[in-house]
Amino acid sequence: MKHPLDIIALDGGWLCLDFINTVSGRIPGMGNEYLNTWTDFIHWVRRAGVLPEPEWIAWSLLPAGNIDEVRTLREALYALFEHLIRTGSIHPKDLDVFNSFLHEVYPHTRLRSTADGLRRGIDPGPHPEKPLWFIALSAETLLLSDRLPRVKACDNCGWLFLDTSKNGARRWCNMQTCGSQTKAKAYYHRKKNN
Ligand SMILES: [Zn+2]
Repeated sequence: MKHPLDIIALDGGWLCLDFINTVSGRIPGMGNEYLNTWTDFIHWVRRAGVLPEPEWIAWSLLPAGNIDEVRTLREALYALFEHLIRTGSIHPKDLDVFNSFLHEVYPHTRLRSTADGLRRGIDPGPHPEKPLWFIALSAETLLLSDRLPRVKACDNCGWLFLDTSKNGARRWCNMQTCGSQTKAKAYYHRKKNN
């Protein structure tokens, strides 16, 4: 049987958003935890393609890191983006918390040349926290990008996603799962009210 995190939906459209979506939902009463153990995180890192496969294998054999730290970063990122979506601005406290993560990550980064110009990368070599550094940099890139206003929360489950639709009117993390449920609910309520 496959580990549940080998098949979790990646509907966020951006690494740090998929990471935030490692609970079953963000609506009160829906928040089943998916990252209960370091092993869960190992499966998710592979699923999300955070590290190239050979590097993932080497990393997965390192002594387990602290899953609490993983969830701390996730909840800090959720708080930051959720506040932004709800109010249109970033809370200074959330930014302070995220900056303290970036302070930890930056000593492990270096600029490298790519076909698209210079990019910030991570030092080679395995390190237990390396996937968290990639996630933090993914959040930084999104926060600095002009796509930031397109980060949204699903109307049905509260998962975060980057709306890449042409008209910017997407409301659900996934049309098949959440969109159809919302439509079914609306249909049900209409019927009930008749
Ligand atoms: Zn959803």
